[in-house]
Amino acid sequence: MYERVAAAAGRSGRDPAEIALVGVSKTFPADAIREASTAGLRHFGENRIQEWEAKRPALTDLDATLHFIGRLQSNKVRRAAHLFDRIDSVDTVALAQKLDVAAGEDEKRLPVLIEVRLEDEPSKHGVSEAELLPLAGAISAFPNLDLLGLLTVPPFFEQPELVRPYFRRLRENRDRVSQALGTRLPVLSMGMSHDFEVAIEEGATEIRIGTAIFGGRGSQE
Ligand SMILES: *Cc1c(COP(=O)(O)O)cnc(C)c1O
Repeated sequence: MYERVAAAAGRSGRDPAEIALVGVSKTFPADAIREASTAGLRHFGENRIQEWEAKRPALTDLDATLHFIGRLQSNKVRRAAHLFDRIDSVDTVALAQKLDVAAGEDEKRLPVLIEVRLEDEPSKHGVSEAELLPLAGAISAFPNLDLLGLLTVPPFFEQPELVRPYFRRLRENRDRVSQALGTRLPVLSMGMSHDFEVAIEEGATEIRIGTAIFGGRGSQE
């Protein structure tokens, strides 16, 4: 894994140290997270609040940043803000507002990413490109949220090379929003097990890797 990250970074003249590996541990047990942590992994991504609550008692001493990367129902926002170090899947002002209130109650600042939907797939989570700037502006104005950047899950193609235009577009959107708001948005979370090398070549600063670290998830998501 690390060799492939380093090689992809090298091809695009980037320093591998600027690319964080987020182990997507959804569906995998606490033991697997422990093992990956012992091997040096420092970021984990989960997409279900209840699942993480079940695993957490065995991992209270885990030295890692925890990313929430799933859909967040409004009745779980407070728990999410409490349990996770970052929420990477914000896609509406209403959700951002609830997170802001929850972070305020916990007296913490909560870093977030906006999830962008680059293709009009109605089943998909994420804000459209047209709505991105207004959402980013709204989030920037909330006192307890820190907007760090963007995340996308592009459509699936067998050939990773076909995903490249989507990764490029996320970067261009980041540059556009960053310029319009006059703020740095340093994080680009893009690339999964089968296409992370292309994502790195297009500027990913975080790649989210599940199966290539932990093995197959079967049909469960
Ligand atoms: C499951 C998931 C991943 C990891 O996918 P793999 O193909 O197993 O690497 C990454 N990002 C999100 C948002 C996910 O839900």
